[in-house]
Amino acid sequence: MSTAWHVLGAGSLGALWATRLARAGLPVKLIVRDAERLRSYEAAGGLTLVEHGQASTYAVPGETADSPEPIRRLLVACKAYDAESAIARLAPRLTADAELILLQNGLGSQDAVATRVPQARCISASSTEGAFRDGDWRVVFAGHGFTWLGDVTQPVAPIWLDDLQTANIPHEWSTDILTRLWRKLALNCAINPLTVLHHCRNGGLQDHHCEVATLCAELAELLQHCGQPAAAENLQQEVERVIQATAANYSSMYQDVANQRRTEISYLLGHACKVATRHQLNLPHLNQLQQRLVAHLHSLGLPSD
Ligand code: NAP
Repeated sequence: MSTAWHVLGAGSLGALWATRLARAGLPVKLIVRDAERLRSYEAAGGLTLVEHGQASTYAVPGETADSPEPIRRLLVACKAYDAESAIARLAPRLTADAELILLQNGLGSQDAVATRVPQARCISASSTEGAFRDGDWRVVFAGHGFTWLGDVTQPVAPIWLDDLQTANIPHEWSTDILTRLWRKLALNCAINPLTVLHHCRNGGLQDHHCEVATLCAELAELLQHCGQPAAAENLQQEVERVIQATAANYSSMYQDVANQRRTEISYLLGHACKVATRHQLNLPHLNQLQQRLVAHLHSLGLPSD
């Protein structure tokens, strides 16, 4: 019997992974927030994946953190700001050889989780797959992409990558996952906050070329200072390419704000500013961007952490 996949969080990415693993016949358990959410999930009869307009429901068994079964393999699919507290609740259930796959965007939550559960192997992921919820317990597979996985403490790939192959989850083991996470964070910092402040689609930033270029220069300086020179290479060019290629899209931060949802600012721009301060780097435009964004979130009654 192969090891069960416990999936924490039945949101967009959690459901996208859980349904594909279940579809491939692999053992999957879904951990939902509390008993009330479990009742709602059970009433729905499973998780529904909508792909190419076709909906299929998978009766993945659900449970709460209080379930007694030990956890050996855990996919952490909640938002970055929920990860540490969610793992703290699950820590007593983790086996001595437990492995965690952390799907959170940005940086900071991975270290917080690893400190909480030092006995577990923590694998970070960076994904370009896109999914959104069009109802409770339903996920729409919106953008096919790729997931890089890596472990900053040991380069050996885990055996369960075979399961991802079986489940048709496009992936690659990466020995420079931290560089990938920093690069993605930098791209996010150069684009997402400005789309919120200028109230525009990604393509709208073509009218703010100088502002974007100034931020890219400061972000590249930060990456150099924190030992990530590869993540700094041609940053501005890539930011401009992404702005062009995704011109019609609204950034994830824009969508969070538009839907009155908490953003992951602390793990993106907030993390960049925190690390710059730690390195005693003066990055005035980046700091000012953070102050403007925090003030904007407060004006909308949204949390800024
Ligand atoms: P999401 O749709 O908001 O889903 C998060 C889920 O976590 C929710 O279902 C939430 O439960 C659940 N949750 C939170 N705390 C929990 C707890 N203590 N126990 C059990 N469940 C808990 O978020 P998402 O879009 O999947 O994003 C997850 C991460 O992936 C984020 O860091 C995001 O930036 C990253 N990411 C997302 C995408 C994408 O396309 N969506 C792409 C790349 C990266 P409730 O339903 O009860 O609120």
